[in-house]
Amino acid sequence: MDREQASSQWAVRLENVHKVYGAASTTTTALDGVSVGFAPGSFTAVMGPSGSGKSTFLHCAAGLDRPTSGKVLLGGRDLAELDETQLTKLRREQVGFVFQAFNLMPALTVEQNVMLPLKLAGRKPDRHRIREVIERVGLGERIRHRPSQLSGGQQQRVAIARALAVRPTVLFADEPTGALDTTTAAEVLTLLRESVATDGQTIVMVTHDPVAASYADTVVFLADGRFVDQLHTPTPDAVAERMTRLVSRARDSRRDVSLREAV
Ligand code: ADP
Ligand code: MG
Repeated sequence: MDREQASSQWAVRLENVHKVYGAASTTTTALDGVSVGFAPGSFTAVMGPSGSGKSTFLHCAAGLDRPTSGKVLLGGRDLAELDETQLTKLRREQVGFVFQAFNLMPALTVEQNVMLPLKLAGRKPDRHRIREVIERVGLGERIRHRPSQLSGGQQQRVAIARALAVRPTVLFADEPTGALDTTTAAEVLTLLRESVATDGQTIVMVTHDPVAASYADTVVFLADGRFVDQLHTPTPDAVAERMTRLVSRARDSRRDVSLREAV
């Protein structure tokens, strides 16, 4: 396979990624040899018990953090080969990020918030495209509003518009519906789903909610820094059942450790 084919097969790919925090006696292995690829136009949910490495995984995959070892290829580029300036540029041009806490700029209007990443990337925002993206998320009437004048769900839709405006290679989301009520969460998830169906957007979303995960094509399960399971065309019930199994397995292995330590 030539280089071009290799780069187009995955929107983002991780190869044997380890991430170790701390030094000497106090190290935590957050990622323990993760190898996974996400195809262009796929929508994947990442689930796992608390502390299993979900956020660390997302940050490494998005170039927000560097792995201790292993490779991350985003849009075919090996992130380890980029210096900080190049990495910042790549993040601005190819990565969209949606956080649980929205992270909008309070002093800026909806339109200005959505334009900000493009401006930071030194691109001249296409007003027509910005307008179109804002209308797509249903906020055409709110273009001059500031975040404080919007509900939580509306603010998250601004954050999604901001992420989509750059046409990122991958949109990463860390618990995007974690701060929203059920109805509003469903609106936000439908919006993400539509961007996959309409634009072939690639999405990787961390969530602890089986209903949110069921909007994805595939759910992958992390435990102790490793991918241990996956589920295609997930239903909320199937996801919940796998999660219960995973959490009780994690509890059992912790009990084994404490038993070993006791003898
Ligand atoms: P999750 O998002 O699944 O809850 P995280 O990726 O946040 O898991 O954390 C995975 C593990 O790494 C946990 O044991 C956590 O305590 C540890 N960890 C995360 N970030 C740091 C950090 N900056 N320094 C030290 N340990 C960290
Ligand atoms: Mg987390």
